[in-house]
Amino acid sequence: MLPFVRKDLVDFAAYKPHPGGGDKSDGVSTTQVDRLDTNESPYDLPPELKEKLAWTYQRLIETNRYPDGGHQTLRDAIAEYVNESARGLPSLFTAANMTVGNGSDEIIRSLLIASCLGEGSILVAQPTFSMYAILAQTLGIPVVKVGRNEENFEIDLQAAQLALEKTQNPPIRAVFVVHPNSPTANPLTAAELTWLRSLSEQILVVIDEAYFEFSQTTLVNELLQHSNWVVLRTFSKAFRLAAMRVGYCIAHPELITILEKVRLPYNIPSFSIAAALVALQNRKLLLQSISQTLSERTKIIHALSQNPVFQVAPSAANFIFLRLKPTDSLSKDAAIKSLHQKLKASGTLVREVGGGLRITVGTIEENDRTLNHLNLC
Ligand SMILES: *Cc1c(COP(=O)(O)O)cnc(C)c1O
Repeated sequence: MLPFVRKDLVDFAAYKPHPGGGDKSDGVSTTQVDRLDTNESPYDLPPELKEKLAWTYQRLIETNRYPDGGHQTLRDAIAEYVNESARGLPSLFTAANMTVGNGSDEIIRSLLIASCLGEGSILVAQPTFSMYAILAQTLGIPVVKVGRNEENFEIDLQAAQLALEKTQNPPIRAVFVVHPNSPTANPLTAAELTWLRSLSEQILVVIDEAYFEFSQTTLVNELLQHSNWVVLRTFSKAFRLAAMRVGYCIAHPELITILEKVRLPYNIPSFSIAAALVALQNRKLLLQSISQTLSERTKIIHALSQNPVFQVAPSAANFIFLRLKPTDSLSKDAAIKSLHQKLKASGTLVREVGGGLRITVGTIEENDRTLNHLNLC
């Protein structure tokens, strides 16, 4: 062990990233693998947009120059897009409400640094997006975990409130929620919203809307009333740009100023900035595929519900959370693990998390194969 390394990092289990696709360039591989484990869009950018980007790369990007470090053009374009979703309030936000990150993961880390580093804990409700706790732990920030209702996955609000009141040394300074949650796919309930609205202004409330384009529910309209709330969004899901690593945050301008101080100066490569701009300019085209994703989601949920051993939750996102009903023979955990392995062996990658399987809605063909592999077609 290296003596200068923090002891808590030695045994720390980091996020296990996706091994990476490569199956298009990998001419050797003959088996079909459906990657339904990371909630990406199943669709690449259309060829005409790739050509446009290639042109931008050849003509406009000087690779010897640092990228635009203030992201002004991109922040303006994002503000315009966010204002579209803030219905009835057409010019609510400007670039002063936006910061852009190398994926929303970078912004999660900046928020943790800005609010908790050295003086606060965070609160999460399990199961949820794992990066909040992982990034907090790498910064030495304690993580307080509460549970959820087994039926509708609502946060155990009593436990959450108690944790807020009782946690000391250091007290809870930030609460992270996903709307709709991953892996359970449920949007925030009325009770959860009431609780979030009741929180003191001393507590940062992070509302991660990574799946907004699928759920079409957003809390951006409420940001003006709550200077302690921030909304996170990403280009990694509906906008088909997971490879480019661009996420953003909508918040009070004072918090944006702080986040801008915390982030690395040239955090987004020029090519990624160009890709995000092209995606926004062509959002009508790119977001057209969402209706198919939603009808495929209905199809999968319906098919899975026919099988008496499956327990399928409703979904407001581009993935499905599948659990197993209790059986006599195997424990639920063992049965989920076995199902996960069987799917993997048959070429369908899904994520085993929170006592179930999180299955991304893919193309029609991929979904049919998934159902087939689950012996349903
Ligand atoms: C996918 C996802 C993100 C996106 O992360 P990026 O770093 O922007 O790729 C953020 N939050 C949640 C809950 C997600 O599922």
